[in-house]
Order: sequence, then structure tokens, then C-alpha cells
Amino acid sequence: MSDPSSLVADLLAGVAEGRRAAIARAITLVESTTPKHRAQARELLTRLPHKEATRVGISGVPGVGKSTFIESLGTRLTEHGHRVGVLAVDPSSVRTGGSVLGDKTRMQRLSVDPHAFIRPSPSAGTLGGVARATVQAMAILEAAGYDVILVETVGVGQSEVTVAGMVDTFLFLTIARTGDQLQGIKKGILEIADVIAVNKADPDDPSRQQEARAAARELAGALRLVRGKGEWAPAVVTASGLTGDGVDGVWEQVGKHRDYLGPAGLRDKRAQQQLDFTWALVRDELDQRLRHSPGVRAVREDISARVLRGELPATVAADQLLTAYDADPPA
Ligand code: GDP
Repeated sequence: MSDPSSLVADLLAGVAEGRRAAIARAITLVESTTPKHRAQARELLTRLPHKEATRVGISGVPGVGKSTFIESLGTRLTEHGHRVGVLAVDPSSVRTGGSVLGDKTRMQRLSVDPHAFIRPSPSAGTLGGVARATVQAMAILEAAGYDVILVETVGVGQSEVTVAGMVDTFLFLTIARTGDQLQGIKKGILEIADVIAVNKADPDDPSRQQEARAAARELAGALRLVRGKGEWAPAVVTASGLTGDGVDGVWEQVGKHRDYLGPAGLRDKRAQQQLDFTWALVRDELDQRLRHSPGVRAVREDISARVLRGELPATVAADQLLTAYDADPPA
């Protein structure tokens, strides 16, 4: 391998020493989509020392209490000697350019904790782009000695599946509802959740606590139907991110899930995630190239209009677009 460029060498040294400014700059570099930065990011990534943290995804609808919970959990972990990185995958930031998740003002104690590093969601064009940046940011934080990485995401679109594909344990936060607990919980979430916590079970509010426990029982019952025999049966616990009650219990379940996987299981899971992610990145890149292909651009509107008017069957239209791409791909 040739010598790294001086920028990459500086960042590597800074990250290895755990210097915050260098870590922040390295993450900015991997978030960039310009070809030059991407080449530097690749160089950085291949030279980073490989370390592995405990990676946990945390999801739930807006308002369920994710940031309050992460503040509480993160602070506990740093008090116990851990170094905690908080990253976010926020699909809405892709649309609006603004990022709510991982917002430091929402995690006031953790954001000034010298043993924590919070980074809001990148807004890099597509969910695939955000995921790419987040996975690289994770590697940077791990190399910098952060031994617990929490990845926050909202229950919108594909983002939960994307985050589940980059962490060891996926924690789903929900709250008790009156009536059907499954209402409002997206189908599929029970299949990817490793730990479920019914949040806002504040100890000074007995009726709320009771509701939360009932909700937890109902969810545990539903899970037994979804999960097959011999599979990990996600624990359903109650917690209050606001008061901190039950937060240790949630972390205990994360530990149990890791024990269940065991070192070999964890290795296999990560290897499979790497392979799945490889293909996801390729698909995302191809999608981008298709969008930017001059050949496709030239015929896209005309073909779309003809499909809308019913003049062109979808199969023929698809063939024509692919032919246009092959004839004139992006430079
Ligand atoms: P997020 O959108 O999922 O990140 O939710 P936030 O952490 O911003 O919390 C949304 C609202 O719920 C805020 O007003 C919090 O103060 C409140 N909240 C969060 N956790 C709890 C909790 O454990 N108990 C109660 N009673 N309120 C909470």
C-alpha cells in the first residue's frame, strides 16, 4: 500500500488518539459524496484499526422517548466506564435537510459528557447514502475506542430494517396504548426486534405502570406467535427513560441477547451483515447511476408520459430505459 495522503494520515493519528476534532472531521469526510472525498474515505477506512463495539439500534415512533432514553442509558454506561457513541439514521433528514435525531440539544447531559460522542444523522441524499455514512462513522468511533455504539432511528419506511442490518441487537421502544397494543406497531417490527421496551412506565404513576406491564404481557404473547421454536425470543420489559427506572433492565436484556448469539454467532451475524450491506451499496450506487445517466435523462420524460397514456406497456418501457442507459451511462 502506498503512503496515506497527509490528510488521511492526520485523521488516522487523531482518531487513534481519540481526539474529538479529528473524529468529527473524519466523519465529515465519510459523509461527503464527492469522488475525491470518497477516495480519501476509502483510504481512511482501509487503514483504520479494526475494533468492535457493542452495537445497538434503538427505534420507535417520534415522541416515544428515544432521545430521553438514550440520554439516560448513555449516561449510565459512561458512569460505568464505557465510552459511548451515538449515531442516527434519519430518513426525514434526507427529504428536509434537517435532522432531528441525534440532536445534541435533546441529550443535554450526554452531549457534554467527555466519554460520549453524539453525531446527528447525515443528510446524504438517499437512505442508502445515510446508511453508508453511518456504517463508516461507526468504524471511526470504534477505532477511536468507543466500545458501545447506539444507532437511533425512527419507525419510518425502510430505516428500521437498514439499522437492524448494521447492529448486533435491535431495541424497539413503544408505549402502552389503550386496547390493542399491536395497533400502530408496524408489521415486521416484531420480526426484527431483539429487545422490546414499553417506555414511559414512570414509577410515580401507578396506573401508567400497570398499563405498561399489561402492554408488555400482550406484546410478549404476540411475539411467541411470530417467533419460531429455538429462535431468540425477545424479552419485553418496561422502562422509564425519564426517571431511569428499568433502563438497567433493558441493558441487561441487550447483554442476554449477546450471550444468546455467543462469539461465533455474533461473528456470523456481522459477516452476513457485511455481505448484505455490500449488495445494498451496489444496488444504491446503480440506482444513482441510473438517475444520473444522460441516456436515461434524455428519454425518461417521454417514456413516462407514454406509459401514463397507456401507449407503452411497462415491460417495453423498462427495456427502452435500460437500452438508453447501456448506450450512454454516466461518465
Ligand atoms: P423521541 O422523539 O422518541 O426522541 O422522544 P423524546 O425523548 O424527545 O420524548 C418525547 C416526549 O416524551 C418529551 O416530552 C419527553 O419529556 C417525554 N418522555 C420521554 N421519556 C419519558 C418517560 O419515560 N416518561 C414520561 N412521562 N415522559 C417521557
